[in-house]
Amino acid sequence: MIGCDCEVCRSPDPRDKRLRSSVYVETPECSWVVDTGADFRTQALRENIRKVDAVIFTHSHTDHIMGFDDLRRFSYARGSMPVSASTETMRDLARVFEFAFKGTYTIPGYLKPEPHVIDGPFALGSTIITPLPVPHGDSVINGYLFSRGDEKLVAYLSDCSAVPDAIVDLIANVTVLIIDALRDEPHPTHLSVGQALAVAARVRPSETYFTHIAHELPHAETNERLKRAGHDNAQLAYDGLTLEVRV
Ligand SMILES: [Zn+2]
Ligand SMILES: [Zn+2]
Ligand SMILES: [Zn+2]
Repeated sequence: MIGCDCEVCRSPDPRDKRLRSSVYVETPECSWVVDTGADFRTQALRENIRKVDAVIFTHSHTDHIMGFDDLRRFSYARGSMPVSASTETMRDLARVFEFAFKGTYTIPGYLKPEPHVIDGPFALGSTIITPLPVPHGDSVINGYLFSRGDEKLVAYLSDCSAVPDAIVDLIANVTVLIIDALRDEPHPTHLSVGQALAVAARVRPSETYFTHIAHELPHAETNERLKRAGHDNAQLAYDGLTLEVRV
């Protein structure tokens, strides 16, 4: 947090240095990114990302979209950038990044979005992506379930304040659950660690990773605490964490 001297903000542990929440997914057929916050360029450089075949958005809050234009590098490489988002999120993207959506600039090298409004499950390569509408304060945003064949591999719920039963049913027994856990204190638009653990107990994933973490949660100490409390399969994620999930 800007201007904060707390233990986490001053921590020398690299896992306490948190950029905006996002995931990059590589499959045998193609690769995509979920959300492009203001840190997208820094993250793409850090991880040496060479290929983005599509982008999927959870919602249009600034911490999830402000790096959109940095997709230009990948858009130019493939001729355009497929963008999947809900109707509301696409509307906001088209407003904020009007120059890109209107094609104002025709010089090669500019971002050329190819909008795909999400109205149900869709495929990227052999991966089926199922939108998971969840409340995020007063708004509804999309989490996503990634499946291959009959296997539910990863559910990504970056920003949510509750997870309805219908969504729990859709993602039940998923291999990896990545879920919002902002801090210990309840928050109007995000799950707390306790609330996220309660969701995980309903979903029963093999592994749970917490994301969208605020500076109230020191990485090592919080994971120790979770372990001591018997949550062997739940832990805070960290920037740069790589997970390999196999069918
Ligand atoms: Zn702080
Ligand atoms: Zn948000
Ligand atoms: Zn957010």
